[in-house]
Amino acid sequence: RTAVVLFTRDLRVRDNPALAAACAAAEQVVPLFVLDPRLRGISPNRALFLHQSLTDLRETLRRKGADLVVREGEPVAEAIRLAREVGAEGIALAADVSGYARRREQRLDRECERHRISLRLLPGTTVVPPGGVRPGGGGDHYRVFSPYHRAWESARWRDEAATPHKITLPPGIAVGRLPKAPDSESPGAAPGGESEGQRRLKAWLRHLGPYDDLHDQMAMDGTSRLSGYLRFGCVSPLAVANAAREIGGPGPDAFVRQLCWRDFYYQATAAFPAMSTEAYRKAGDYRWRADEDALKHWQDGSTGVPVVDAGMRQLRAEGWMHNRARLITASFLTKHLGLDWRDGVKWFFRWLIDGDVPNNSGNWQWVAGTGHDTRPHRRFNPIRQAERFDPDGAYVRRYVPELKSVDGKAVHQPWRLPEAVRSGLDYPGPLESHRDDAVWLRP
Ligand code: FAD
Repeated sequence: RTAVVLFTRDLRVRDNPALAAACAAAEQVVPLFVLDPRLRGISPNRALFLHQSLTDLRETLRRKGADLVVREGEPVAEAIRLAREVGAEGIALAADVSGYARRREQRLDRECERHRISLRLLPGTTVVPPGGVRPGGGGDHYRVFSPYHRAWESARWRDEAATPHKITLPPGIAVGRLPKAPDSESPGAAPGGESEGQRRLKAWLRHLGPYDDLHDQMAMDGTSRLSGYLRFGCVSPLAVANAAREIGGPGPDAFVRQLCWRDFYYQATAAFPAMSTEAYRKAGDYRWRADEDALKHWQDGSTGVPVVDAGMRQLRAEGWMHNRARLITASFLTKHLGLDWRDGVKWFFRWLIDGDVPNNSGNWQWVAGTGHDTRPHRRFNPIRQAERFDPDGAYVRRYVPELKSVDGKAVHQPWRLPEAVRSGLDYPGPLESHRDDAVWLRP
């Protein structure tokens, strides 16, 4: 018996339910990745991370006696073609939530039925699958985080899938080549792959004790930086959550809670696939301005508000931004400049290695007040945030070298420096606010 495993966003061999199911059901297994022409449109940072992840997956599979078969084309057609070529009886695949992925699953289901191939959709992209916990009263998904978190914490999580020791590929398959690696755009970007993800996870588990105290401090390395590895499935969200739970305590608990946010946005996106373009909360009165010039300053990190500029420059330099800086920069775009959150979604998506529809759009909508925040009018005062979460200004000085000479927290408000000092800095004054309550800007 032969089975095909179609890899998508589960680029790992550990705790990979689709791979484990195929290995349990068949003597011969064909691991497949299809280079969908749509992938040509993904950002260079994610394209490179994907390339590195596929290269690593191929090496791991080779060590286990198999290989990664790489084909180019429409994924459903290619998976069916390969399944027929090798006489496979089944195809296994990790279920996903985006509109595109769901349509792909439906097409695959129809084609499998037509060709009498069995299709198995398995969990693996979240800790608890979307729909795995449901609100009482007949709701299809949770709209508020706290009750979701309670249900999620007390749900029985699935058992981790077995890691196959040996995988036998049917003889005579052309394995196909990976295209040349794309160039990096962010010099500080983390490299992709399960091996690197595992290495980082192990190191992180030794350091996550003080997570609850440190995770908001922007200048510190106080978070896991696992998001890209979770995004591409190089590490299993369930295995990460289990490992942290096993350690236990306030730090690990706070960390597991963040993984729950990830699941929360996945179940919301599964129920509301238009998450990236339409307001989830329709009730509000949202009027966003169009202002190309202000948008460009925000994108370039030249708003004149140091903490905002530092965040936006970290994004480009590393393909990653600290969560606190994401909150501050997103609030600045929507609630200070009054610009549309969808502009923010696009720009973040352009650069983030961890960029995905549920977390990117879900968080943007939370900040903009169109999403799940129970206080939709909340906004962040960037100076108070900066003074709290970058108390001596180290984060700002790291990413905004024009302000290197300004000591301590004074770096957060250069407009308050004596004129003689300020005029010596090659740094602009702050962009005008489009709200009348920007008191923090007054001298
Ligand atoms: P850690 O603090 O170590 O957290 C562990 C994991 O929990 C993360 O890797 C991530 O998978 C999950 N997580 C943490 N915070 C959140 C959150 N607020 N929402 C959902 N999951 C969370 N995260 C993405 O993975 N992709 C995105 O495209 C994305 N876009 C965002 C856009 C905005 C405007 C904001 C405010 C946040 C966004 N986040 C996104 C959430 C969060 O900022 C990142 O997950 C986090 O900074 C990643 O760093 P880390 O792995 O060190 O996180």
